Amino acid sequence: MKNRLLIVGSIAYDNIQTPSGSAEWALGGSASYAALAASFFAPVSVCGIVGGDFKDSDMARLARRGADVSDVEVDRGGETFFWSGKYHDNFSSRETLETRVNVYENYVPKLGGASRSAEFLLLGNIGPDVQKCALDSMKSDPFVILDTMDLWIEIANAPLRELVKRADILIVNDSEAKKLSGERNVIRAGDGLLRMGAKSAIVKAGEYGAMLFHPDGFFAVPAYPVRELRDPTGAGDTFAGALAGVLSSGGQTGFRQIKEAMAVGAAAASMTVESFSSDKLEEAGLGEILRRAECVRKISEI
Ligand code: AMP
Repeated sequence: MKNRLLIVGSIAYDNIQTPSGSAEWALGGSASYAALAASFFAPVSVCGIVGGDFKDSDMARLARRGADVSDVEVDRGGETFFWSGKYHDNFSSRETLETRVNVYENYVPKLGGASRSAEFLLLGNIGPDVQKCALDSMKSDPFVILDTMDLWIEIANAPLRELVKRADILIVNDSEAKKLSGERNVIRAGDGLLRMGAKSAIVKAGEYGAMLFHPDGFFAVPAYPVRELRDPTGAGDTFAGALAGVLSSGGQTGFRQIKEAMAVGAAAASMTVESFSSDKLEEAGLGEILRRAECVRKISEI
Protein backbone atom coordinates (compact mmCIF):
# COMPACT_ATOMS: atom_id res chain seq x y z
CA MET A 1 0.00 0.00 0.00
CA LYS A 2 1.27 3.42 -0.94
CA ASN A 3 1.68 6.11 1.69
CA ARG A 4 -0.86 8.90 1.56
CA LEU A 5 0.10 12.55 1.89
CA LEU A 6 -2.38 14.97 3.44
CA ILE A 7 -1.86 18.62 2.51
CA VAL A 8 -3.48 21.36 4.58
CA GLY A 9 -3.17 25.02 3.62
CA SER A 10 -4.68 27.93 1.77
CA ILE A 11 -6.63 27.64 -1.46
CA ALA A 12 -6.68 31.13 -2.86
CA TYR A 13 -7.24 33.58 -5.63
CA ASP A 14 -4.24 35.81 -6.25
CA ASN A 15 -3.76 39.17 -7.94
CA ILE A 16 -0.08 39.47 -8.80
CA GLN A 17 2.11 42.13 -10.38
CA THR A 18 5.65 41.28 -11.46
CA PRO A 19 8.16 43.04 -13.72
CA SER A 20 7.09 40.52 -16.42
CA GLY A 21 3.34 41.15 -16.27
CA SER A 22 0.32 40.67 -14.07
CA ALA A 23 -2.45 38.18 -13.34
CA GLU A 24 -5.83 38.52 -11.69
CA TRP A 25 -7.84 35.87 -9.91
CA ALA A 26 -5.13 33.32 -10.57
CA LEU A 27 -5.51 30.01 -8.72
CA GLY A 28 -3.04 30.16 -5.84
CA GLY A 29 -2.65 29.27 -2.19
CA SER A 30 -0.17 27.06 -0.43
CA ALA A 31 -2.31 23.92 -0.63
CA SER A 32 -3.06 24.39 -4.33
CA TYR A 33 0.58 24.71 -5.37
CA ALA A 34 1.72 21.97 -3.04
CA ALA A 35 -1.00 19.53 -4.08
CA LEU A 36 -0.32 20.00 -7.78
CA ALA A 37 3.38 19.36 -7.25
CA ALA A 38 2.99 16.47 -4.80
CA SER A 39 0.45 14.57 -6.86
CA PHE A 40 3.10 13.81 -9.48
CA PHE A 41 4.65 11.53 -6.86
CA ALA A 42 2.17 10.21 -4.32
CA PRO A 43 -1.52 9.80 -3.51
CA VAL A 44 -2.57 13.16 -2.10
CA SER A 45 -5.54 14.46 -0.11
CA VAL A 46 -6.16 18.18 0.15
CA CYS A 47 -7.83 19.91 3.08
CA GLY A 48 -8.95 23.55 2.98
CA ILE A 49 -11.95 25.76 2.37
CA VAL A 50 -13.19 27.86 -0.56
CA GLY A 51 -16.08 30.26 -1.05
CA GLY A 52 -19.07 30.21 -3.37
CA ASP A 53 -16.99 32.22 -5.87
CA PHE A 54 -14.54 29.32 -6.36
CA LYS A 55 -14.77 28.06 -9.93
CA ASP A 56 -15.61 24.43 -10.64
CA SER A 57 -12.84 24.47 -13.24
CA ASP A 58 -10.31 25.33 -10.50
CA MET A 59 -11.57 22.51 -8.29
CA ALA A 60 -11.20 20.21 -11.30
CA ARG A 61 -7.68 21.55 -11.78
CA LEU A 62 -6.75 20.59 -8.21
CA ALA A 63 -8.20 17.14 -8.71
CA ARG A 64 -6.91 16.59 -12.25
CA ARG A 65 -3.78 14.77 -11.21
CA GLY A 66 -5.75 12.51 -8.89
CA ALA A 67 -5.68 14.55 -5.67
CA ASP A 68 -8.60 13.72 -3.38
CA VAL A 69 -10.49 16.98 -2.76
CA SER A 70 -13.30 15.53 -0.68
CA ASP A 71 -11.99 17.38 2.41
CA VAL A 72 -12.13 20.74 0.63
CA GLU A 73 -15.12 22.48 2.18
CA VAL A 74 -17.23 24.88 0.11
CA ASP A 75 -18.84 27.77 2.02
CA ARG A 76 -21.39 28.94 -0.55
CA GLY A 77 -22.06 32.22 1.27
CA GLY A 78 -18.38 33.11 1.73
CA GLU A 79 -15.50 34.30 -0.40
CA THR A 80 -12.32 32.42 -1.23
CA PHE A 81 -9.02 33.45 0.48
CA PHE A 82 -7.62 36.38 -1.48
CA TRP A 83 -4.02 37.55 -1.65
CA SER A 84 -2.43 40.25 -3.74
CA GLY A 85 1.25 40.93 -4.06
CA LYS A 86 3.74 42.97 -6.03
CA TYR A 87 7.34 42.11 -6.95
CA HIS A 88 9.87 44.86 -7.34
CA ASP A 89 12.22 45.43 -10.27
CA ASN A 90 14.72 42.70 -9.61
CA PHE A 91 12.16 40.14 -8.38
CA SER A 92 14.13 39.81 -5.17
CA SER A 93 11.64 41.58 -2.93
CA ARG A 94 7.92 41.12 -2.65
CA GLU A 95 5.32 43.27 -1.02
CA THR A 96 1.98 41.90 0.16
CA LEU A 97 -0.65 44.45 -0.90
CA GLU A 98 -3.62 42.68 0.65
CA THR A 99 -4.51 39.45 2.45
CA ARG A 100 -8.18 38.63 2.96
CA VAL A 101 -8.48 35.31 4.78
CA ASN A 102 -12.26 35.33 4.15
CA VAL A 103 -13.62 31.78 4.60
CA TYR A 104 -10.51 30.82 6.62
CA GLU A 105 -11.54 33.29 9.37
CA ASN A 106 -13.22 30.71 11.61
CA TYR A 107 -12.28 27.62 9.67
CA VAL A 108 -11.91 24.34 11.51
CA PRO A 109 -10.52 21.57 9.26
CA LYS A 110 -12.67 18.47 9.14
CA LEU A 111 -10.76 15.41 8.05
CA GLY A 112 -12.26 12.29 6.53
CA GLY A 113 -11.01 8.80 7.33
CA ALA A 114 -8.41 8.59 4.55
CA SER A 115 -6.91 11.95 5.51
CA ARG A 116 -6.76 11.16 9.22
CA SER A 117 -4.77 8.02 8.58
CA ALA A 118 -2.29 9.61 6.13
CA GLU A 119 1.32 8.65 6.86
CA PHE A 120 2.67 12.04 5.75
CA LEU A 121 1.28 15.46 6.61
CA LEU A 122 2.25 18.73 4.95
CA LEU A 123 1.06 21.65 7.05
CA GLY A 124 1.26 24.23 4.28
CA ASN A 125 1.32 27.94 4.93
CA ILE A 126 -1.85 28.98 6.78
CA GLY A 127 -2.64 30.13 10.34
CA PRO A 128 -1.05 27.93 13.05
CA ASP A 129 -4.49 27.40 14.63
CA VAL A 130 -5.70 25.64 11.45
CA GLN A 131 -2.43 23.70 11.21
CA LYS A 132 -2.67 22.55 14.84
CA CYS A 133 -6.28 21.51 14.49
CA ALA A 134 -5.42 19.32 11.48
CA LEU A 135 -2.42 17.81 13.26
CA ASP A 136 -4.46 17.07 16.40
CA SER A 137 -7.14 15.37 14.27
CA MET A 138 -4.71 12.80 12.88
CA LYS A 139 -5.34 9.22 13.88
CA SER A 140 -1.96 8.13 12.52
CA ASP A 141 1.35 9.45 13.81
CA PRO A 142 2.39 11.14 10.56
CA PHE A 143 5.74 12.48 9.43
CA VAL A 144 5.14 16.24 9.71
CA ILE A 145 6.44 18.88 7.30
CA LEU A 146 5.61 22.39 8.48
CA ASP A 147 5.65 25.54 6.35
CA THR A 148 4.78 29.09 7.42
CA MET A 149 5.40 32.72 6.50
CA ASP A 150 6.29 36.10 7.99
CA LEU A 151 2.69 37.09 8.70
CA TRP A 152 2.16 34.14 11.08
CA ILE A 153 5.57 34.62 12.70
CA GLU A 154 4.43 38.14 13.53
CA ILE A 155 0.80 37.66 14.55
CA ALA A 156 0.73 34.06 15.88
CA ASN A 157 4.24 33.56 17.21
CA ALA A 158 3.48 31.52 20.36
CA PRO A 159 1.20 28.89 18.71
CA LEU A 160 3.63 28.63 15.81
CA ARG A 161 6.52 27.91 18.20
CA GLU A 162 4.49 25.09 19.74
CA LEU A 163 4.01 23.58 16.28
CA VAL A 164 7.71 23.87 15.44
CA LYS A 165 8.39 21.40 18.29
CA ARG A 166 6.20 18.85 16.49
CA ALA A 167 7.77 19.27 13.03
CA ASP A 168 9.95 16.58 11.46
CA ILE A 169 10.94 19.13 8.81
CA LEU A 170 10.33 22.87 9.20
CA ILE A 171 10.50 24.78 5.91
CA VAL A 172 10.99 28.56 5.93
CA ASN A 173 12.82 31.11 3.81
CA ASP A 174 15.98 32.87 4.98
CA SER A 175 14.32 36.00 6.35
CA GLU A 176 11.64 33.96 8.11
CA ALA A 177 14.32 31.72 9.65
CA LYS A 178 16.05 34.79 11.06
CA LYS A 179 12.81 36.29 12.32
CA LEU A 180 11.64 33.06 13.96
CA SER A 181 14.97 32.23 15.60
CA GLY A 182 16.00 35.79 16.46
CA GLU A 183 19.40 35.27 14.75
CA ARG A 184 20.97 37.59 12.15
CA ASN A 185 23.16 35.00 10.42
CA VAL A 186 21.36 32.41 8.29
CA ILE A 187 23.46 29.46 9.52
CA ARG A 188 22.95 30.38 13.16
CA ALA A 189 19.25 30.80 12.33
CA GLY A 190 19.08 27.25 10.91
CA ASP A 191 20.82 25.88 14.01
CA GLY A 192 18.41 27.93 16.12
CA LEU A 193 15.38 26.30 14.47
CA LEU A 194 16.68 22.88 15.60
CA ARG A 195 17.16 24.24 19.12
CA MET A 196 13.53 25.39 19.01
CA GLY A 197 12.56 21.75 18.61
CA ALA A 198 12.23 21.07 14.87
CA LYS A 199 13.84 17.68 14.09
CA SER A 200 15.28 19.19 10.90
CA ALA A 201 14.91 22.48 9.06
CA ILE A 202 15.11 23.59 5.45
CA VAL A 203 15.94 27.23 4.86
CA LYS A 204 15.11 28.43 1.34
CA ALA A 205 17.05 31.19 -0.33
CA GLY A 206 15.08 31.70 -3.55
CA GLU A 207 17.29 31.80 -6.64
CA TYR A 208 20.29 30.68 -4.54
CA GLY A 209 18.78 27.35 -3.51
CA ALA A 210 18.03 25.86 -0.11
CA MET A 211 19.90 24.60 2.95
CA LEU A 212 19.14 21.60 5.13
CA PHE A 213 19.94 21.61 8.85
CA HIS A 214 19.76 18.04 10.08
CA PRO A 215 21.22 16.14 13.07
CA ASP A 216 23.24 14.04 10.56
CA GLY A 217 24.75 17.07 8.84
CA PHE A 218 24.39 20.17 6.72
CA PHE A 219 23.45 20.17 3.03
CA ALA A 220 22.80 22.81 0.40
CA VAL A 221 21.01 22.34 -2.91
CA PRO A 222 21.30 24.91 -5.69
CA ALA A 223 18.27 26.28 -7.51
CA TYR A 224 17.72 25.05 -11.07
CA PRO A 225 19.08 27.84 -13.29
CA VAL A 226 16.05 29.73 -14.59
CA ARG A 227 16.48 32.37 -17.26
CA GLU A 228 12.83 33.32 -17.89
CA LEU A 229 11.44 34.39 -14.54
CA ARG A 230 7.76 35.38 -14.76
CA ASP A 231 6.20 35.01 -11.30
CA PRO A 232 7.91 33.58 -8.20
CA THR A 233 4.59 33.19 -6.33
CA GLY A 234 4.12 29.68 -5.03
CA ALA A 235 7.73 28.58 -5.55
CA GLY A 236 8.07 27.78 -1.85
CA ASP A 237 4.81 25.86 -1.75
CA THR A 238 5.75 23.93 -4.87
CA PHE A 239 9.13 23.06 -3.34
CA ALA A 240 7.42 21.83 -0.17
CA GLY A 241 4.77 19.88 -2.10
CA ALA A 242 7.24 18.09 -4.36
CA LEU A 243 9.54 17.32 -1.42
CA ALA A 244 6.64 15.93 0.62
CA GLY A 245 5.39 13.91 -2.36
CA VAL A 246 8.82 12.35 -2.99
CA LEU A 247 9.35 11.46 0.69
CA SER A 248 5.86 10.04 0.91
CA SER A 249 6.28 7.90 -2.20
CA GLY A 250 9.60 6.46 -1.02
CA GLY A 251 8.52 6.11 2.60
CA GLN A 252 12.06 6.70 3.94
CA THR A 253 12.84 9.98 5.67
CA GLY A 254 16.56 9.92 6.51
CA PHE A 255 19.16 12.59 5.72
CA ARG A 256 19.89 11.07 2.32
CA GLN A 257 16.24 10.86 1.26
CA ILE A 258 15.57 14.44 2.33
CA LYS A 259 18.56 15.59 0.24
CA GLU A 260 17.22 13.72 -2.82
CA ALA A 261 13.75 15.16 -2.28
CA MET A 262 15.21 18.68 -2.08
CA ALA A 263 16.65 18.30 -5.60
CA VAL A 264 13.20 17.38 -6.89
CA GLY A 265 11.63 20.24 -4.91
CA ALA A 266 14.08 22.69 -6.49
CA ALA A 267 13.28 21.31 -9.94
CA ALA A 268 9.51 21.62 -9.48
CA ALA A 269 9.80 25.12 -8.00
CA SER A 270 11.82 26.27 -11.01
CA MET A 271 8.83 25.48 -13.21
CA THR A 272 6.37 27.41 -11.05
CA VAL A 273 8.41 30.60 -11.41
CA GLU A 274 8.32 30.40 -15.21
CA SER A 275 4.58 31.16 -15.42
CA PHE A 276 1.76 32.73 -13.46
CA SER A 277 -0.12 30.31 -11.22
CA SER A 278 1.00 26.71 -11.80
CA ASP A 279 0.43 26.70 -15.57
CA LYS A 280 3.95 25.65 -16.53
CA LEU A 281 4.20 22.94 -13.88
CA GLU A 282 0.95 21.39 -15.04
CA GLU A 283 1.78 21.66 -18.74
CA ALA A 284 5.32 20.33 -18.64
CA GLY A 285 4.70 17.51 -16.19
CA LEU A 286 6.72 14.82 -14.48
CA GLY A 287 9.28 14.19 -17.24
CA GLU A 288 10.49 17.79 -17.13
CA ILE A 289 10.58 17.84 -13.31
CA LEU A 290 12.78 14.72 -13.29
CA ARG A 291 15.03 16.10 -16.05
CA ARG A 292 15.57 19.29 -14.07
CA ALA A 293 16.14 17.35 -10.83
CA GLU A 294 18.92 15.41 -12.58
CA CYS A 295 20.40 18.70 -13.72
CA VAL A 296 20.29 20.05 -10.13
CA ARG A 297 22.12 16.90 -8.95
CA LYS A 298 24.80 17.34 -11.64
CA ILE A 299 25.31 21.00 -10.78
CA SER A 300 26.03 19.98 -7.19
CA GLU A 301 28.85 17.60 -8.16
CA ILE A 302 32.48 18.62 -7.90
P1 AMP B 1 4.90 31.62 -1.72
O1 AMP B 1 5.23 32.46 -2.92
O2 AMP B 1 5.49 30.24 -1.78
O3 AMP B 1 5.18 32.33 -0.44
O4 AMP B 1 3.32 31.39 -1.74
C1 AMP B 1 2.43 32.35 -2.18
C2 AMP B 1 1.03 31.78 -2.10
O5 AMP B 1 0.64 31.74 -0.73
C3 AMP B 1 -0.02 32.62 -2.83
O6 AMP B 1 -0.65 31.82 -3.78
C4 AMP B 1 -0.99 33.10 -1.76
O7 AMP B 1 -2.33 32.91 -2.09
C5 AMP B 1 -0.65 32.28 -0.54
N1 AMP B 1 -0.58 33.10 0.67
C6 AMP B 1 -0.16 34.39 0.78
N2 AMP B 1 -0.22 34.82 2.05
C7 AMP B 1 -0.70 33.76 2.77
C8 AMP B 1 -0.97 33.56 4.16
N3 AMP B 1 -0.80 34.53 5.07
N4 AMP B 1 -1.43 32.34 4.54
C9 AMP B 1 -1.59 31.37 3.64
N5 AMP B 1 -1.37 31.49 2.33
C10 AMP B 1 -0.91 32.68 1.89
